[in-house]
Amino acid sequence: MEFIDLKKQYSQLKDKIDMEIAAVLQDAHFISGKQVKELELALAEYVGMKYCVSCGNGTDALSLAMMAYGLKEGDAVFVPTFTFYASAETISLTGATPIFVDIDPDTFNMATRDLERTILEVKHKGELNLRAIVAVDLFGLPSNFKELNRIAKANNLLLIEDGAQGFGGSMDGQKACAFGDIATTSFFPVKPLGCYGDGGAVFTNEEKVKDYLESIKVHGKGADKYDKVRLGLNSRLDTLQAAVLKVKLDVFKKSELEERQRVADEYRKMLGDCVKTPVIPNGFVSSYAQYSILLANEEQRNVIQQELNKQGIPTMIYYKKSMHQQTVYRNNPSIYHAFPKAEMVSSRILNLPMHPYLEHDEIQTICEAIKCALKLL
Ligand SMILES: *Cc1c(COP(=O)(O)O)cnc(C)c1O
Repeated sequence: MEFIDLKKQYSQLKDKIDMEIAAVLQDAHFISGKQVKELELALAEYVGMKYCVSCGNGTDALSLAMMAYGLKEGDAVFVPTFTFYASAETISLTGATPIFVDIDPDTFNMATRDLERTILEVKHKGELNLRAIVAVDLFGLPSNFKELNRIAKANNLLLIEDGAQGFGGSMDGQKACAFGDIATTSFFPVKPLGCYGDGGAVFTNEEKVKDYLESIKVHGKGADKYDKVRLGLNSRLDTLQAAVLKVKLDVFKKSELEERQRVADEYRKMLGDCVKTPVIPNGFVSSYAQYSILLANEEQRNVIQQELNKQGIPTMIYYKKSMHQQTVYRNNPSIYHAFPKAEMVSSRILNLPMHPYLEHDEIQTICEAIKCALKLL
């Protein structure tokens, strides 16, 4: 059994993907081939933002978004502590200070109450300019953007959506990667929409921001490609990846997103009365980048992981450590208080196999193994 079965997905899409890849090889426009623009248009339309600017990966997407708004030293940027490195690391690379915020243990996303409290604390301290919020759509569930928009407006903060895991999710019918002032995503192979290497994208409604992003993703080029007008990166989505993503976006829309809901529903039905299954608030849809259960305590979680492992059922622990526990941030001046909810979740979470091709029998096997293991305790 695979944790995320990319081989099975390929076996189903092989004819189309092979054809698209062969077309790119024939054309030999490996960078900026026509498939890249076609994909950007399709992605912008799907998420409901005016513009999509593709780039090298989801980390660069965040960096590009932060560069576009000129984040810099002295700026405070609020980010959940329970996330993948890139959400915080890209803040630090601009020179700004990441200010970690605890999470809501039901949704695993940033707790808006804690965010408001932390904003007040930073304001009172008066050492940093309150500048931006990076909201992460963890495990596929959009953050609470109703509240986040209100908080961002009230405090004059830029709102950046890190939709690397959220692609395909929605809130009140609005798609992930269309929230906030600017949004980013990743096409790393195991994300909800993944390519066959690295890839990412930035979404914006502002033409000026789009033009600026187009420039800084190619060395800060001007209107003339050979006139360099500012500093930039080399961060392009290559044509092969765009060709693969076009095929995958089609099936994502046609069936995969729905199949992810099916898998999650089956898990919830079989496990709902013995472990804590994900809470999806009213009006929200998760794209289930991960399916995460919470066990009663760390010992129970570890025993269950071992038992599943013995039976060849792969599981993961996302994330064993929050950002405030990482060595690199140990002396971060931004750590104002403890993060009990993130630490509690780290000690009890277990991520189960999750992908659109997971079959009913496999889900049953996984759930029975969990139930048996629970009896051992
Ligand atoms: C994967 C991920 C990223 C970074 O994407 P890459 O394509 O791997 O650079 C950023 N933020 C979150 C929340 C992620 O899960």
